[in-house]
Amino acid sequence: MENLIKKAKNTHSLTKEEIVSLLKNNDINEELFSAADKVRKKYVGDEVHLRGLIEFSNICKRNCLYCGLRSGNKNADRYRLSEEEIKDFAKKAIGYGYKTIVMQSGEDEYFSAEILAEIIKEVKKYNVAITLSIGERTADEYEILKEAGADRFLLRIETTDEELYKKMHPNMSLENRKQCLLNLKKAGYETGSGCLVGLPNQTLESLADDILFFKELDADMIGIGPFIPHKDTPLADFDRNNFTLALKVMAITRLLLPDINLPATTAMETLHPEGRFVALQSGANVIMPNVGEGDYKKKYEIYPGKVGMDTIPKEYRDSIIKKIKSIGRTVSEERGFRKR
Ligand code: SAH
Ligand code: SF4
Repeated sequence: MENLIKKAKNTHSLTKEEIVSLLKNNDINEELFSAADKVRKKYVGDEVHLRGLIEFSNICKRNCLYCGLRSGNKNADRYRLSEEEIKDFAKKAIGYGYKTIVMQSGEDEYFSAEILAEIIKEVKKYNVAITLSIGERTADEYEILKEAGADRFLLRIETTDEELYKKMHPNMSLENRKQCLLNLKKAGYETGSGCLVGLPNQTLESLADDILFFKELDADMIGIGPFIPHKDTPLADFDRNNFTLALKVMAITRLLLPDINLPATTAMETLHPEGRFVALQSGANVIMPNVGEGDYKKKYEIYPGKVGMDTIPKEYRDSIIKKIKSIGRTVSEERGFRKR
């Protein structure tokens, strides 16, 4: 096992079987996390990139089985921020020092490419990077948004297991998801993907395939999150703590894609009080704090128990910076594009 970790650390490649054996074996976890931490330091340094997150609509036409925002969840209290509110939160966040604004939502058709383009153009006046995370759109729409100034796009593949993908995503297809990712790359985005860890009947073999898919795609960013059951979804009773497994998938992703941006996801902090900081010391180099204000934030309940819901954006940023420094890391002053 130590040899496998060494191989991954030095060559940044592993076979599917080798990845599976690392995922299976829990005696080597500390060595794995420490190797990912060293590779992170060597390729992307000690800087942590902070991206200010605005969750601008929880209205979604999709029905992903795991997600609290699924259209079938009639208990969800829906909201949609106005264009002015979105721009206002973005400007405030830029004032606090954020160099990237992430705009995330359910698949809400109100926000046409034209409406989003107008918001993007306004925020881009401040010389920041913009990341979109709004789900599947046509190639043309991706292009319009890119031309308006969007720099990056996050679209997780969720799982590369065809059968599991079908079960989890009614009326969606893995093939189309992959096509969207290719369209994003073609449009010139820094393209992010990622997966959920701990879905019902998800195998370690399929997680290994997910990691190899990230490498094949040559993704620029990868977000790995533990699946957390939401009570108003069909997967409500599928409870299991996926923290360590998610951390391992993340660490192996760092070993195989050494120079990408890898967020310590909020879902990790939900399952472990210091989850994001553990992740920062196991391969991650990005945190995406929420920069919205008001009660609407609680309604963006993809999964329960999200941290940072009652925080004030400026104070929240300061507290995260303090913690980053306490683990011997620094905060980036730059927009933080992938450096190859
Ligand atoms: N609608 C867009 C963006 C918002 S969802 C999209 O789907 O791409 C953002 C991410 O939340 C999804 O990619 C999914 O991986 C994650 N997510 C959804 N439900 C979750 C759950 N129950 N536990 C953990 N993560 C979840
Ligand atoms: Fe909608 Fe995204 Fe949730 Fe799926 S994961 S239901 S697309 S918000």
